[in-house]
Amino acid sequence: MTNKYKIAIIPGDGIGKEVIDAAISILNELNIDFDYEYGEAGDDCLEKTGTALPQETIDIVKNCDACLFGAAGETAADVIVKLRQELKMFANLRPVKSYPNTNSLTENIDFMIVRENTEGLYIANQEEITSNGAIAKRIITREAEERIIDYAFKYAIENNKSKVTCVHKANVLKKSDGLFKEIFYEIGEKYPDIEKEDFYVDATAMYLITQPQNFEIIVTTNLFGDILSDEGAGLVGGLGLIPSANIGKDGALFEPVHGSAPDIAGKGIANPIAMILSAVMMLRYLTENDSADRIENAILKLLNQGTVLTEDLGGKSTTLEVTNEIINLL
Ligand code: ATP
Repeated sequence: MTNKYKIAIIPGDGIGKEVIDAAISILNELNIDFDYEYGEAGDDCLEKTGTALPQETIDIVKNCDACLFGAAGETAADVIVKLRQELKMFANLRPVKSYPNTNSLTENIDFMIVRENTEGLYIANQEEITSNGAIAKRIITREAEERIIDYAFKYAIENNKSKVTCVHKANVLKKSDGLFKEIFYEIGEKYPDIEKEDFYVDATAMYLITQPQNFEIIVTTNLFGDILSDEGAGLVGGLGLIPSANIGKDGALFEPVHGSAPDIAGKGIANPIAMILSAVMMLRYLTENDSADRIENAILKLLNQGTVLTEDLGGKSTTLEVTNEIINLL
């Protein structure tokens, strides 16, 4: 009997619409029964309906097992922040992995950034104008930090990783990051087989360049995770390859890190790999690991052979040609 899942599909804007079709073509090659429910969101949706994220779309996502999201343009922050809140998606996962024939700084990079998604410095409407400037609050709660740190350790075990690195700035932010670091070692006691280490965020920014192979899983707060994951993207050579996941108790959403890329939208030349790897993350979330491995191996073969690649990777092929080649290699 094949497994059956309801998947919310939000193509969004620009190349989001193009790369999501590519991911669906690949999913349709698997021996899994997917039932797709389409929702609208983003700039085009705002123009058409007066809102960038209609309630109907939120309901579709809530009623599905997982959501695949293409990209949103100017409205991206509104759409994704609201969806994260509505679905209580507290963990943002950003894998940083080097692939052959790409602009990766070095080989054998493979780590996961587990970023807290709900608090830290990114609490909506918490900035204040004062008489001589402005103040932003940085919130660290025991509940949210225990949840993300525990998630990182569980992720390590489920993915056969041996070490979790806590990234903070506890020497300066003594109370807030002091607490984050303290909770890391407290929770870590439940996971005696996993090695634990902690670094300051500024040192980590350097180590990501000088010794990226040292990292397996990084767990960190909202702002630091945001910055380090873009550094990670630069490390392994480009937006066309980088997927992400937002995970919560009430749902999970998978999206490429890139945006709607208006400069290349409509030309059929967007690299679909970041979106397809986002679908691979979704398959792993659904515990369809064999299918996830199949697709990832096909992408690895495609990059190794280096003949059918989009322009961003130095090739001349279209989105459709790359997608069809991945299907051939499955
Ligand atoms: P947005 O406003 O939606 O964030 P943007 O252009 O500011 O759009 P990105 O969409 O992330 O930001 O694109 C940044 C650059 O990377 C653009 O030049 C874009 O063409 C390129 N790019 C992004 N994604 C891809 C992709 N999948 N394939 C090829 N090039 C890409």
